[in-house]
Amino acid sequence: MNYLPIFADVRNKLCLVVGGGEVGKRKAGVLLEAGAQVRVVAPQIEPALSEQQRVEAIFARFEAQHLDGVTLVIAATNDRNVNRQVSELAQARNIPVNVVDDPELCSFIMPAILDRSPLMVAFSSGGASPVLTRMMRGRLETMIPQNYSRLAAFAERFRELVKQRVTNPAKRRIFWENALEGVVAEKVLTGDEGSAEKMLQQMLKDEDNIQRGEVYLVGAGPGDPDLLTFRALRLMQKADVVVYDNLVSKPILEMARRDAERIYVGKKRNDHTLPQEQINELLVRLAKEGKRVLRLKGGDPFIFGRGGEEIETLAEHGILFQVVPGITAASRVASYAGIPLTHRDHAQSCIFVTGHLKDGTMNLDWEQLARPKQTVVVYMGLHGLDTLCAELVKHGMPGNTPIAIVQQGTTQNQRVITGTLVTLPQNPEVAKLHAPTLIIVGGVVTLREKLAWFNPEKSHA
Ligand code: SAH
Repeated sequence: MNYLPIFADVRNKLCLVVGGGEVGKRKAGVLLEAGAQVRVVAPQIEPALSEQQRVEAIFARFEAQHLDGVTLVIAATNDRNVNRQVSELAQARNIPVNVVDDPELCSFIMPAILDRSPLMVAFSSGGASPVLTRMMRGRLETMIPQNYSRLAAFAERFRELVKQRVTNPAKRRIFWENALEGVVAEKVLTGDEGSAEKMLQQMLKDEDNIQRGEVYLVGAGPGDPDLLTFRALRLMQKADVVVYDNLVSKPILEMARRDAERIYVGKKRNDHTLPQEQINELLVRLAKEGKRVLRLKGGDPFIFGRGGEEIETLAEHGILFQVVPGITAASRVASYAGIPLTHRDHAQSCIFVTGHLKDGTMNLDWEQLARPKQTVVVYMGLHGLDTLCAELVKHGMPGNTPIAIVQQGTTQNQRVITGTLVTLPQNPEVAKLHAPTLIIVGGVVTLREKLAWFNPEKSHA
C-alpha cells in the first residue's frame, strides 16, 4: 500500500483552492459537496465559482497568509512554481496539500469517487494509471446502482435500534446481511420503505431465528484469484472467519473479508499443523459460536482435499454447510502447461490418483493405470515417482510413454520437466523440484510441444 485511504470530515471547515480556472472550479465543487467552506485564491476566478455560496473569493496571487485558518489545500494552477510554493508552505504548517496531477508535491492524493451517499466508494491507482482508474469507475457504476444511496440511508436509520436489540456482534452482522441481501433490501430499492421497515421490525422480534453459524467449504483453485468462482468470492466476503491451508495463495486469502479472522491449519507432507480430526472439530466449534466459517481449500475441496470428512462431522452436529467447487490442480496445471487431459487421438479417459506413499508403498491398481489410451494424473506423487514409473512399466505400459512433472503449476515458480517412464526418473533436474508437483502420464504429454506456444501464460519451464 503506497497510501493510507481515509475519509476526511471537512464540514464547515475552511479549505483553500489556489487557482480559479476549470480545474479549480471542479475541485472547489467537490469540497463544497463535502460541506466545506471554500477560499479560492487566484488573480482571475470564474464567476460561476466566485459567486457561489460558501465561497470566499480572493482575487490575488497566492501568498502565505492565505493559508491562515485552513484545514486542507488544493493547488490547481497551471504554474508549477506557484503550485510548488503552495505545497512547501502548506507542508511546513502541516496542512494536508494536494497538487493536481503532481503526486510529488502532494501530501495526499484525491481518489476517484463513486458517490452513493452515505455510501461512498473511493479508489485510486496512486497515479499509476488514471485510465485504469477510469475504467474501474465505469465498472463500479454498473455494479453499485444509484439507489444504493437509499439502501445505505435506510441502514443508517436503523443502525442504533438494531444495535440495541441484537447485542451479539456476530449475530448482528448476520442480521444485517439477511436484511441487506434479502427482501428488505428489495423493498427499499423499489422505494417501498414502509414495508421494508415493517419487515425489519418483524425480523427484530424474531431474534432467535437469526441464522445460526454455518460453514462454506470453498475450493480456492490452484492460486490465481481470477479462477475463483463468483460464488466463492461472495462467500469469502461474507465469512467471519477463514480456516485455510498451505495450498491457498496469498492473493486469494487477501480477497476474504478484511476483518475476518484467519486461522492457518496448513498441511504439508510430514508436517501436519493440525490433525484432520482437530480441523473438523474446529469448524464445528466456530459454527456453534454463530460464526460464518469459510473453509478455504486449494483446488477443489472434494478432490484429495478431505472435504468429505469435514462435512461428515458438520452433518453429525447439524451444522449447515455449503460446498463450492474449485478448479482442481489437474485441470488448471494441465492447461497452463499446454497438456490437454483428453484427446481423441491419445486418451479417451483420464484418471486422477494420489501417489501419497504409505509405509513406502504406493498402493494403486497398476493394471488399471497401465491401460492404453488414457491419461493418468498423479497428485502428491513427487516422492513416489520412481515407484510409479517402474510399476507402470512392469504392468505393461511401454517404457517410452511420455510423462511430465509440473512443479508449482500456474505460479511464477512453475517448472515442467518431460521425459518417458524410463528417462524421467533418471533426470537429475527432477531431484531439484519442490512440492506441490503434479505428474501427468500419457500420449497427451507430447501435444505440449505443439500447443504450449499458443498458450500465452507461463507455459514454458
Ligand atoms: N484439493 C486439491 C488437491 C490437494 S492434494 C485440488 O483439487 O487441486 C495436494 C496436491 O495437489 C499436491 O501434492 C499436488 O500434487 C497438487 N497440486 C496442487 N496445486 C498444485 C500446483 N500449483 N502445481 C502442481 N500441483 C499442484
